[in-house]
Amino acid sequence: MASVSLRNVSKSYDGKTPVVRDVSLDVPDGQILTVLGPSGCGKSTLLRLIAGLETADTGEILIGGESVNDRDPKDRDVAMVFQSYALYPHKSVRENLAFGLRMRHLDAARVAARVDATAAALGIGALLDRKPAQLSGGQRQRVALGRAIVREPRAFLFDEPLSNLDPILRASTRAELAVLHRRLRSTMVYVTHDQEEAMTLGTRIAVMREGAIEQVAPALEVYQQPANTFVARFVGSPAMNVWTCACRRVDGRVRLVSPALSIDLEQRSAAVPDGIEVTVGARPHDVDLVPHGQGDGTGRVEVVEPVGSTTVVHLRVDGSPDELLRTIVPADTPIAVDQEAGFRLRRNRLHLFDARSGQRLAADSAQR
Ligand code: ADP
Repeated sequence: MASVSLRNVSKSYDGKTPVVRDVSLDVPDGQILTVLGPSGCGKSTLLRLIAGLETADTGEILIGGESVNDRDPKDRDVAMVFQSYALYPHKSVRENLAFGLRMRHLDAARVAARVDATAAALGIGALLDRKPAQLSGGQRQRVALGRAIVREPRAFLFDEPLSNLDPILRASTRAELAVLHRRLRSTMVYVTHDQEEAMTLGTRIAVMREGAIEQVAPALEVYQQPANTFVARFVGSPAMNVWTCACRRVDGRVRLVSPALSIDLEQRSAAVPDGIEVTVGARPHDVDLVPHGQGDGTGRVEVVEPVGSTTVVHLRVDGSPDELLRTIVPADTPIAVDQEAGFRLRRNRLHLFDARSGQRLAADSAQR
């Protein structure tokens, strides 16, 4: 296995608009980097650049510390797994697995041994003589995975490989992939728009928007200390609540005021420079419902969604009728639609951003 690095890589398809913008990333040997971002943000293009299926306009791509910009895809020794599986329909599973090795002129005994070992590892040994059309979606996905593993590449590139599976199969295959990674100790770049997948699989997550990397960090850090409002809103479900607030000094404290709420920051004053607008963020888990008239703001319950052990409550906020605040409460909380309620944001869990730039206010994160 080998490390994968990108240095200031940019790519446009039309010579004008970059779809990958000045991306620098390092995936150390044996780690999984998940690349998370909305559809169309350039994730697949990034993978295709690493694989050599697209050529970078500028920048350098390194595998195992060596520049591969001038190498053909077949000479980069990386294996890509696609959402569409891309199996050969007329070949059996065995032939699908063996094909890439035969192309490399491995002798028949070694091909057979590798195919058998890979099929056993993925639990598809009984399917080797079937054609893809005779397999379920989950089984096809395994074969696609097997075809990558059998090659023993220096790195794996995954392009939304689980997207075609139903949710239950998707969750179990995700767990299997994690086990597989532990066993193979392989370097993986894994592209997805599914944040659960990104957070559970990645040693680190790169959050991408419009071709640029917004933050690269371990999952928990991205969740707890999002670098900016885009990451804050994109990662976490239900999404973080945010309010743009004017900032006033009252008796030495900072008071943040919007039509929806008014909160005093107390010891956090140092985090907020004078005279800026602040975007305040609170995750649904970090908003408590309190009796009407108490707390930081009030509203009327509009939707109650029991989701098992917890309930998601959507509150139409007074003073800001276009806004629904989301909070998560224990399932046994007595709460009904149309009820008036107050809400309080947990002060030690607030996220503060400069409203203009969207960037996290540094002193705030230092207090965690
Ligand atoms: P993602 O994988 O995040 O959905 P893509 O990398 O597929 O994003 O696409 C990024 C942008 O580049 C999109 O706007 C898409 O329409 C455009 N794009 C992708 N492939 C091509 C191509 N071969 N030619 C022209 N534009 C493309």
